[in-house]
Amino acid sequence: MTASSVPTTPRARRTFPVRTEKVRCPICSSDSARPYRRGMYRIGDVAFDLVRCPCGMVYVNPRPDGPTLGAMYDDADYYTDGYNLGVETENYFERKDELIAQYEAATAQYERETGIARGRFLELGSAGGFFLEGAKRRGWKVQGVELSPPAAQYSIRELGHDVFQGLLEEAPFQAGTFDLALADNVLEHTTDPEGVLRRLRELLRPGGCLIVIVPSYVNSPYFRLMLAAQAVVPRALLGPQTLKLLKFDGADSGFPYHILEFDLRALRTLVERSGFRVERVERSVPLPAHLFKNRSPSVAPRLQRGVFRALDGLMRAGLLPGARLRLVLRRP
Ligand SMILES: [Zn+2]
Repeated sequence: MTASSVPTTPRARRTFPVRTEKVRCPICSSDSARPYRRGMYRIGDVAFDLVRCPCGMVYVNPRPDGPTLGAMYDDADYYTDGYNLGVETENYFERKDELIAQYEAATAQYERETGIARGRFLELGSAGGFFLEGAKRRGWKVQGVELSPPAAQYSIRELGHDVFQGLLEEAPFQAGTFDLALADNVLEHTTDPEGVLRRLRELLRPGGCLIVIVPSYVNSPYFRLMLAAQAVVPRALLGPQTLKLLKFDGADSGFPYHILEFDLRALRTLVERSGFRVERVERSVPLPAHLFKNRSPSVAPRLQRGVFRALDGLMRAGLLPGARLRLVLRRP
């Protein structure tokens, strides 16, 4: 990969017209959600609030309408600094080799969990194609769907992958043809998550599997505890990067890419209604790059690393709710 082929972060975001629409809960269709966090996101002068439904689902309402969402994903820096919401310190494309190796290992894990190997693999939200590359190295025949034009073009141009640029419902795939599908940090971006899950189910062969990964921190007791205890959050101890990650740095969190915030109950309801059987649930917490990559020996970062590790261990043991959820689903 040459330096010129790496999409870079533009100085200023492109501006576009912002329109919004009011929506009902995507899980239970009720319209009785209460304010959860105001001004969580922003596009230009337009602020976006999170609301929480009595069923437990959290979502952006009013949310950007279809054309506004389209413009958000046309934004050239979506995968350079827009997508990670502060979890990583480097942009996606700069982590190419590291991510491909990590995804090759993840593919091996999914093979063990599902009992399926070397078949046809579909990734929804295939970004720059690094997961596709990892799966291909393990012998899978891979295809992707990616909404972001710069990312889709990159995966086609630099890695030679078969990637459809657009929405899943527009992609010309045949029903029943895939053995394994992956939607990693995708469902929380979609306006019709049930439609997406039903389409993925249709594209899988009977007995085929879908891996779904979603962030769940914003719809978790951890975030609610922080909301309730804002005044006593130990800001000096946490430091500016961790505060940003926890979404308590006082700034908005950029564009409303995450229009849905699932907890386990909401996600389970949705996937079962879409015709999947839940075979495995993994709860975890993403380990922040600023703490775990440049291992500062100072006391505060060491303390924070210890807390993150302990939380991750307790979540994986099923003793605490996850800040990130991974479900292994099978089409019966
Ligand atoms: Zn609801």
